[in-house]
Amino acid sequence: MMLRHTKPLLKKLRYLSALGQKAWRSHSSSARERALHYGSGQKIHGFTVEQVTAIPDLFLTAVKLSHDNTGAQYLHLARDDSNNLFSVQFRTTPKDSTGVPHILEHTVLCGSEKYPCRDPFFKMLNRSLSTFMNAFTASDYTMYPFSTQNAKDFQNLLSVYLDAVFFPRLRELDFWQEGWRLENENPTDPKSPLVFKGVVFNEMKGAFTDNESLYAQFLQNKLYPDHTYSVVSGGEPLAIPDLTWEQLKQFHATHYHPSNARILTYGDLPLDQHLKQIHEEALSRFQRTKPDTDVPPQPHWDKPREHHVTCGPDALAPDPTKQNTVCMSYLLGDITDTFEAFTLNLLSSLMVSGPNSPFYKSLIEPKIGTDFSSVVGYDGSTKEASFSVGLQGIAEKDIECVKHIIGQTIDDIIANGFEEERIEALLHKLEVQMKHQSTSFGLTLASYVATSWNHDGDPVELLKISENVTRFRQCLKDNPQYLQEKVKHYFKDNTHRLTLSMSPDESYFEQQEKAEAEKLKQKVEALSDNDRKQIYEKGLELLSIQSATQDASCLPALKVSDIQRTIPVTPVEMGNAGGVPVQYCAQPTNGMVYFRALCSLNTLPDDLKLYVPLFCNVITKMGSGGMDYRQQAQQIELKTGGMSVSPEVIPDPADLDMYEQGIILNSSCLERNLPDMLHLWSDLFNSAHFDDEARLRVLVLMAAQELSNGVSHSGHMYAMLRAGRTLTPAGELQEAFSGMDQVKFMKRIAEMSDLTAVLRKLPRIKKHLLNPENMRCAVNATPQQMSAVSTEVEKFVGVIARKKKDRKVARLNVIEKPLDPMAGSGFIPGSGASRKLISEPTFKPCQMKTYFQLPFPVNYVSECVRTVPYTHQDYASLCILGRLVSAKFLHGEIREKGGAYGGGARMGSGGIFAFYSYRDPNSVQTLSAFRNGVEWSKAGQFSQQDIDEAQLSVFSSVDAPVAPSDKGLNRLLYGVSDEMKQKLREELFAVTHKSLTDVANRYLGIGQRTCGVAILGPANESINKDPSWVVR
Ligand SMILES: [Zn+2]
Repeated sequence: MMLRHTKPLLKKLRYLSALGQKAWRSHSSSARERALHYGSGQKIHGFTVEQVTAIPDLFLTAVKLSHDNTGAQYLHLARDDSNNLFSVQFRTTPKDSTGVPHILEHTVLCGSEKYPCRDPFFKMLNRSLSTFMNAFTASDYTMYPFSTQNAKDFQNLLSVYLDAVFFPRLRELDFWQEGWRLENENPTDPKSPLVFKGVVFNEMKGAFTDNESLYAQFLQNKLYPDHTYSVVSGGEPLAIPDLTWEQLKQFHATHYHPSNARILTYGDLPLDQHLKQIHEEALSRFQRTKPDTDVPPQPHWDKPREHHVTCGPDALAPDPTKQNTVCMSYLLGDITDTFEAFTLNLLSSLMVSGPNSPFYKSLIEPKIGTDFSSVVGYDGSTKEASFSVGLQGIAEKDIECVKHIIGQTIDDIIANGFEEERIEALLHKLEVQMKHQSTSFGLTLASYVATSWNHDGDPVELLKISENVTRFRQCLKDNPQYLQEKVKHYFKDNTHRLTLSMSPDESYFEQQEKAEAEKLKQKVEALSDNDRKQIYEKGLELLSIQSATQDASCLPALKVSDIQRTIPVTPVEMGNAGGVPVQYCAQPTNGMVYFRALCSLNTLPDDLKLYVPLFCNVITKMGSGGMDYRQQAQQIELKTGGMSVSPEVIPDPADLDMYEQGIILNSSCLERNLPDMLHLWSDLFNSAHFDDEARLRVLVLMAAQELSNGVSHSGHMYAMLRAGRTLTPAGELQEAFSGMDQVKFMKRIAEMSDLTAVLRKLPRIKKHLLNPENMRCAVNATPQQMSAVSTEVEKFVGVIARKKKDRKVARLNVIEKPLDPMAGSGFIPGSGASRKLISEPTFKPCQMKTYFQLPFPVNYVSECVRTVPYTHQDYASLCILGRLVSAKFLHGEIREKGGAYGGGARMGSGGIFAFYSYRDPNSVQTLSAFRNGVEWSKAGQFSQQDIDEAQLSVFSSVDAPVAPSDKGLNRLLYGVSDEMKQKLREELFAVTHKSLTDVANRYLGIGQRTCGVAILGPANESINKDPSWVVR
């Protein structure tokens, strides 16, 4: 697990998203009010309170403490949110690229003093109702957060986390498994060649195939060449084999110490209890040390520098001759200067964000490249922040030109400044982000304060956002040149400036392979016969440990009986606005209104379907009514929290051969802006612009680039979609909208020299899609606002143009079902609110094996089986079986033995049971692991405890908190009611050993149901020779 920073554009602002909440629950005993009673100087369980601060904007109280004996720093954020969070972070500042902090992050999770079983972390995933569990390695810190809504679970997880980070076993075999090792290719055959294996080794090989992250890594290394930022904290694949087990243990001893730790808790659980447990179980066993982990300031250059690097070619790049990246990066100020960092962050957004920003106009619109470089805007993830701007997808000859434009644009900004309206739009965005509530607010805050706090910045200052806004406004008022002066100081006059260009090299992967072979040869040649014998024996030992039945009884666990039997009902009200069904869901939304609409695409001719994702992507970005696209973008920023459209294929919950097809309009705004936002929507319905080919090209290039970049980090999703493509009618359309077919389609569009033909299709699509005849809406807002909101929605429906029902496509078999999923058989089609589903009762699923040969050194493998829909009685058993076989069998085979980053199986709501692997060194072998997983399931070699764990794990996702903005959406959009959820819940509780082996036998065995297979990966001889595969 790794945190890698790409696209740091507006990162800080994104972290802020979802601030604010639950003001309605302000009774006197609230957690935030109780926390105000702590006094500074007060001693509690080995800690001393340093400061107590009310932060009304975020509805929380911050309590800062320090641990008396060790100096460990502690921040508690008391807030009336039941999704409690714990996080501990250590400043980890490596001096080499062996990946020591990253390998350590993995290895501490392999067993500890009190919990000596293998992999307690992964096991806790199945013994808890956690809403989040993970670990991250950043450039200069390592962080271990979890969250849960259950108090007992919090204590359990806290105990496991504390023991893992402070008292891990760090055995040599753990290091071998997680880090790197030499091992016989076939561990049971001492004659098979020795190869490098290890989870992090493979993970980083995978990460380095992603050109965007590769570029981000190079940029940071070269902009800060004098200390820890000059190395790869995650590990450079070929430097990883230089790390020894001794060095790993040493790094732990010096870095994972309370004196180098920062601990954060968040939520409504009492602070006293946390402090007591943390002191007693961990901190009381340490004495203060002086950790030497500070990052010194980067010495400033007296003149700018330039570097050039190479990368692998991108087989999916829209234009193969345009695969270069160039950007300029500027070293800014220290991030612990909170207000300066706030200002520079806002300033950076003004410079690069949205079509009205100067760099968008000067770099994106001339279409020199496909998109901004992967690193763009403000990046505060290092001790001193940086700002970067540049382009990817450019021709080599344009590199100079881009550099020139960047300098020119900075001069223009200094001369002209920014429009006041843009500054207002940005501050409005901050206000919206403070009000919108996500479900992972604790994690958002922990990540938000992590970097500055890591360098001893004051985390509480960071939380005082409105104070910073007020001060910012004052600075602008006092000095109209305020921002321009900053630009002059930090950009024009800044000599610590790096220009980094990156070009593809046809032989890049070959060279990497050669270098790896060379490294391997070096290591192998140095071995004595005795070494080889030991390697073989250790390989066998590892294999036998990995194959042994595991005893996890030392770990704490919740019981299935701790899970709530029933779910709370979400009340909604159905209304009707001029014939359009509208669902109103009253929620504590903190003054925000959320408006969604689903528009059917049943009447759309088939030849236009592949264009629907493109249509969705551009419809809100081409201008409408009296506004060109710039004015439109400005209005969207000024008046809304965002307006977007996405294609949606919704499998019917009751029938695998039925699905609904449509697009979803998604938007939010402050209550006062609802009329403006609905006006923006009605402009799109009535008079969207489709006349600007140059604008369309900009958007097409960006979309194609984004899809192409996405394949290497979501390869398993693409493999799953492809494998499921021929199994259901919905699967085929899903692949067309978001699978490899779409990636290739967009690449073709981006290559076209003339987009007029494409442009002409867009209004045709719009006629079919943006039509109130085929629409239903959902609104979430506060109860007080509901009647005003419904009036506005009625007005909106009243003004959007209505089309005649003349485009019924006869070929399609459309079935009407009542919108209320529980309406039963009394429903008469045409009589009221309904969902219009496409039915293909004669659909014949067929088996298909597809191989996408791509220039990656790792594979993404999937096998999908057509099973049963959501409401079928066997659905619950298949859900549990997915978790069970993932945790108890596939994890061991694919990750531990196979060396893949991840792998497992899961049941999808569309009735597809999917096996998958992620960043996998194997391909065909993984397919056998899937099959062995089925045999394992059929044989039923699992215990009741295993089943209980799988149930807990399924429930922790079923019961994941839902934000007020999203409540009730399942019902309106997907036809899944609370009653259906409750029924599934009862079936999940009722799953037995017998029902699990039974579904494995009836659905997953060979010849039982049709299955599909897909692999994305490098050239593969055995598959190329096998005629049953379709190679693409
Ligand atoms: Zn990792």
